[in-house]
Amino acid sequence: MPGGPSPSLTGFVGHSRPWARRAVRLASLGLPRGEVRDRYRREFVSDLSDLGAHAQVAYCVRVVVGVPALRLAVRNTPSSPLEPIMATTTRPLRCRLTFHRWEAAHTPDGQRFDRCARCHKERGDGRTGFSGLAIG
Ligand SMILES: [Zn+2]
Repeated sequence: MPGGPSPSLTGFVGHSRPWARRAVRLASLGLPRGEVRDRYRREFVSDLSDLGAHAQVAYCVRVVVGVPALRLAVRNTPSSPLEPIMATTTRPLRCRLTFHRWEAAHTPDGQRFDRCARCHKERGDGRTGFSGLAIG
């Protein structure tokens, strides 16, 4: 019987799964409608394409779990048409959900460190010995 998901559920990055996109879109319905929801929905979907299939599962779960808290956060933010909501919520949702996007950065004196491209959290804050990327 055809119709089931193909067994190719091993991670290849760069393709968000249709079900995953649907899941985060559904989850985004828990947010206040309008620009905020649209914006987060776009972010969720674009995040998915950065992840492998297994990570997309985890991401969907975290989005679904995180939406109530996010909804509270955006509701408690005074809405002003002049002030984009993302500027007043301190960290991007994906960072609150601990999905940082680590990138290599360098101190002015040339020392390399990992930093989140979104919230600028530095990897290794408070802990050492984590080497995700080996760049000489
Ligand atoms: Zn971050």
